[in-house]
Amino acid sequence: MAETKPKPKIKKEAVEMRKQEPKVRAKNFNEVALGYNEEEALEEASRCLQCVKPQCVSGCPVEVSIPEFVKCIRDRQYAEGIAKIKEKNALPAVCGRVCPQEEQCQVKCLVGKIGQPVSIGRLERYLADWEREHGFQLPEKAKPTGKKVAIVGAGPAGLTAAADLVKLGHEVTMFEALHLAGGVLSYGIPEFRLPKAIVQNEVNYIQKLGVDLRVGNLVGRTHTIPELMKNGYEAVFIGSGAGLPQFTGVPGENLGGIYSANEFLIRVNLMKAFKFPEYDTPIRIGKHVVVIGGGNVAMDCARSSMRLGADVCLLYRRSRDELPARKEEIENAEEEGLVCKFLAAPLKFNGDEKGWVKSMECLAMELGAPDEKGRRSVKPIPGSEFTMETDTVIVAIGQTPNPIIQRTTEGLQVNPRHGTIIVDENGKTTLDGVYAGGDVATGAATVISAMGMGKKAAKAMHEYLMSKK
Ligand SMILES: Cc1cc2nc3c(=O)[nH]c(=O)nc-3n(C[C@H](O)[C@H](O)[C@H](O)COP(=O)(O)OP(=O)(O)OC[C@H]3O[C@@H](n4cnc5c(N)ncnc54)[C@H](O)[C@@H]3O)c2cc1C
Ligand code: SF4
Repeated sequence: MAETKPKPKIKKEAVEMRKQEPKVRAKNFNEVALGYNEEEALEEASRCLQCVKPQCVSGCPVEVSIPEFVKCIRDRQYAEGIAKIKEKNALPAVCGRVCPQEEQCQVKCLVGKIGQPVSIGRLERYLADWEREHGFQLPEKAKPTGKKVAIVGAGPAGLTAAADLVKLGHEVTMFEALHLAGGVLSYGIPEFRLPKAIVQNEVNYIQKLGVDLRVGNLVGRTHTIPELMKNGYEAVFIGSGAGLPQFTGVPGENLGGIYSANEFLIRVNLMKAFKFPEYDTPIRIGKHVVVIGGGNVAMDCARSSMRLGADVCLLYRRSRDELPARKEEIENAEEEGLVCKFLAAPLKFNGDEKGWVKSMECLAMELGAPDEKGRRSVKPIPGSEFTMETDTVIVAIGQTPNPIIQRTTEGLQVNPRHGTIIVDENGKTTLDGVYAGGDVATGAATVISAMGMGKKAAKAMHEYLMSKK
């Protein structure tokens, strides 16, 4: 009888990624997670079963060929591995760091049925970092089509659409309102989760592909979309994000020391308040910061405030189980010393004689029945008022799209409730030749969902452009 080879055993535990020690990292803005070295990447890649029908790919909104790039790591063919990823994803160093893989590709990984899933994100990061050290190779581009395309906004949605369209041979100009490309990747997510040099490296790659990036161009003011189309752009993609902060609306919110998360993070990240005095742009922050909210934005504000030397309390109206932030980031924040006050909401902010916030009145909440999406409702507990002392409050309860483009583009239909641009499944708006995607179409979501929409729209725009005489 022929001898059957024993199947190699798959390790149930994923290879851990090294991190800075909590006590050390809570005092600096350097990247928390340190990435895999070659040995660790090879070990983790060896856990992949190389499934014939890989479910992980269907969990990825841009459908990266996961088993193929993991195999390249196993074979130590790193240049081929990163090229494989870049066929679908122009921002792998970003996605490898901030994508919620635990809810997307990794949740579908077969190995996850017997233990921890393959750490797809960490392996993606490994290859992207390898490429940064070894220099990138540009892919082949299609012949020039002679068609001009405008992209509004250089966040993940716009960058992805731009990369795909330029590879298809179109002449792509990207208009960005700020002085720097990257969108939330540059001005929102802090350095300790996503170093800005890494974001700019990915932006450089997209510029090297041939995209003409024009910063300091606020579309709707410097030029409107109808003007761009009159000036020879045959199709436009709007990826202007959701940068307008929402407020609690409770009395006293205009007091000094109360920031929106957007303002706070822009001042810390984009204006480099965290590098004061090297950069002469400090932010005034007190000793006792309260951050209101529970998403990634709230966690980033809380962890940045801790690094600026404050004691921080996160105030969230639901319980820990409902926190919408990434699990990994909640754990990181707690390890760094974050204190949370769950099931509580602000009722009123009180100021001192100089008009600076000094305390806030709050109300305890209780959870009710889940809604149609399974999210538990909350209701206040009558008579449960309490006061918290604070000298700085950061409101991180959500963002909506800035309406400037919508208001200056006749015929562009917008959802009246959320201010999002209405698009079909291919990202087409109600105007011919005008497409949109990312947070401006969905409301605040994720990097990879914005990229997925940018990709779909680029494909539809290409078909539209090529069908035009
Ligand atoms: C603090 C923070 C942390 C986050 N953490 C995560 C995370 O860990 N993981 C994750 O997946 N997602 C995270 N997100 C969400 C994610 O960053 C967004 O969903 C994503 O960036 C949306 O991409 P976008 O391209 O649609 O918009 P944006 O990233 O907002 O980019 C839009 C760009 O358009 C520009 N713009 C706006 N209006 C105009 C105009 N009129 N003319 C020209 N340019 C314009 C803006 O300046 C900006 O550069 C986070 C968001 C924030 C704010
Ligand atoms: S599902 Fe998991 S094991 Fe299968 S190919 Fe994808 S990463 Fe590998």
